[in-house]
Amino acid sequence: ELRVRFAPSPTGMFHVGGARSALFNWALAVQAGGRFILRIEDTDQARNRPEWTEGIISALAWLGIGSDSPYFEGPYFQSDYAEQHRAAVAKLLADGRAYHCDCTREDVKERTGSEFKGYDGYCRDRGLTSGAVRFRTPDEGVTVVEDKVRGRVEFANDSIEDFAIARTDGSPLFVLANVVDDMEMRVTHVVRGDEHLANTPKQQLLWEALGATPPVWAHVPVLVNEKRQKLSKRRDKVALESYRDEGYLAEAMINYLMLLGWGPGGDREIMPWSEMVRLFRLEDVNPSPAFFDEKKLRAFNGEYIRALPVDEFAERCLPWVRPIPGFDVEVFRKVAPLVQTRVAVLSEVPGYVDFLFLAEPVFDQGSWDKGMKHEAAPDILEAYAERLATVEWNPDALKAALEEVGAAHGLKLGKAQAPVRVAITGRTVGLPLFESIEVLGRERSLARVKAALE
Ligand code: GLU
Repeated sequence: ELRVRFAPSPTGMFHVGGARSALFNWALAVQAGGRFILRIEDTDQARNRPEWTEGIISALAWLGIGSDSPYFEGPYFQSDYAEQHRAAVAKLLADGRAYHCDCTREDVKERTGSEFKGYDGYCRDRGLTSGAVRFRTPDEGVTVVEDKVRGRVEFANDSIEDFAIARTDGSPLFVLANVVDDMEMRVTHVVRGDEHLANTPKQQLLWEALGATPPVWAHVPVLVNEKRQKLSKRRDKVALESYRDEGYLAEAMINYLMLLGWGPGGDREIMPWSEMVRLFRLEDVNPSPAFFDEKKLRAFNGEYIRALPVDEFAERCLPWVRPIPGFDVEVFRKVAPLVQTRVAVLSEVPGYVDFLFLAEPVFDQGSWDKGMKHEAAPDILEAYAERLATVEWNPDALKAALEEVGAAHGLKLGKAQAPVRVAITGRTVGLPLFESIEVLGRERSLARVKAALE
């Protein structure tokens, strides 16, 4: 049985890179009918916060990864496995694969010169019975990591220091706890970020020393921004939650994240989850850094939005539009098809439709000035107000009336439309004007055009 895991540390917002790793693991589990194990690596007490754990669980659920699926297992918490970690350290000590060490960093520096190249093995045969614990790495030969993404990666053993596996107080270090948990959870494939590749030879040695067969490794490439810099919390928008809260659709996000470093070949990009599950292969993941292109993600999301049946689109908009004062779902349904073709993310929807519900549109000075810039604007509004009182109430007639009013002032429709649009909607761009007027209704439209003249 294939068993993969996702093992985040709850020390911050859930990163899009983590989401991508989680999805790769999830695709493998679902494809093989195996298990995806969620393990919260919560042993860094100083940096953990329970809300980060909740954030991870809810973000995964948003991506469709959660306890309602038979392929999901957990969450487990690393802190619950302290006994197993200690037992593993004890076993390695008993087998002579590890030893106690009381050197400080300064001690080592003094012995080896100013350039710290790793631990020098000073305590290897001192027979100490307390202190930190170090793993005795082989001095010769190579440790070969067969990585599904990177291929064969060789590490000269003399470059792998005798690394620490437990602190002086007995608490285990990441490199050990992570392996012990993976063994405990019978993990068969470790698919994780590239930044862990340097740990892998050490961890492979630990697996072997603990008498187990190492898992299949796959290190997926880092995500970079348009300047080819590693995505960073400070510089880039990396929190999955912020995309969710901006109105990205989960299915668009999933599809986009899956394509970061992977593709089914050819130029196919937009495809349903079931198809990605069917086609995903670790061997097809590209080892070079993947560009997280926010613009492309936006475009993707727009495509997903336009592909929704309009009723479903309207439904998905509700959390965004319902808070608008005066909101009326029937009115919203009428304009939903017009909105659907224009937005890339759902948070843009209120800006297109709020004028239909608010007692008065929201005017911003810039739009107002732009809309009213033509000297004939007041005359246009005045004349159109007269027509609005009696014109037949449909977009064509509303348009024809404005065309006539414009023509009387030597203005084309585009120019004549500007003051009317800003009077009605408060903005200079938006939904098609005459449909908007139709839905807003005669009385309110008339009142707005008149109000603009005051
Ligand atoms: N807790 C580690 C991290 O967040 C997990 C590394 C791993 O997947 O093995 O990076």
